Amino acid sequence: MKLLVLGVGDAFASKYYSTSLAVGFEDQWLLVDCPHPIRKMLREAGESSGVALEVGDFAALVLTHSHADHCSGVEGYLFFEHFVRGRKGPLAAHPEVHAALWPTHLAAGMSQLLHADGCVSRHEAADFIEPIALSESDSTRIGPFTVEIRRTIHHIPTFALRISAGGRSLGLSADTSYDEGLLDWLFEADRVVHETNYGVHTPYAALASLPEERRERMWLVHYPDDFDLDASAIEPLRQGQLYTV
Ligand SMILES: [Zn+2]
Repeated sequence: MKLLVLGVGDAFASKYYSTSLAVGFEDQWLLVDCPHPIRKMLREAGESSGVALEVGDFAALVLTHSHADHCSGVEGYLFFEHFVRGRKGPLAAHPEVHAALWPTHLAAGMSQLLHADGCVSRHEAADFIEPIALSESDSTRIGPFTVEIRRTIHHIPTFALRISAGGRSLGLSADTSYDEGLLDWLFEADRVVHETNYGVHTPYAALASLPEERRERMWLVHYPDDFDLDASAIEPLRQGQLYTV
């Protein structure tokens, strides 16, 4: 599998885009989280990595939770799918994330459209979104990918991911406090992308004290502006670079 790093920062980042990743296998891709400005992020990562991706190219957008640094680009993603590609945007998430996304986030900007004849049409989530429900008890097949989720410790319903394809697998922590049960679940995958930050997030020191066998299979994202990339005992993902899982 391939991993294209679109953004590595946190909600307050001034040096990076918010954390967002594209996971690929052969010619198919999943977009994991979708901050604004997602098309600029895709173009810049494409220029640095040689992988050209556009919003409408993804088998699905997989959304871990509804904090703006992870979903502020969803309105633009769905409008691009609607107006440019002429299709509903495939969006995979836990039902609790789906349930909150439209009424408490997207409806403000997407529930009505003004047309050239002056008429205004009213819209619902189903007009823009092709929903894919992820489950805590079952895996979900999306194209060549198998997606599993596990609830994390965070302010609002948030779900870590395990994505597998072609005999390889990648664990993604999403936003979470330090959680040994989650780490055991994630490390059933070949490689793990884990968040680190301040407050209720996972402290770098806790991850740096993990056994070497785990640190060598781990990459860091969602790090603060002042995180010292060169001093890290765990390899931090670099924005705009392409990795092999
Ligand atoms: Zn969050």
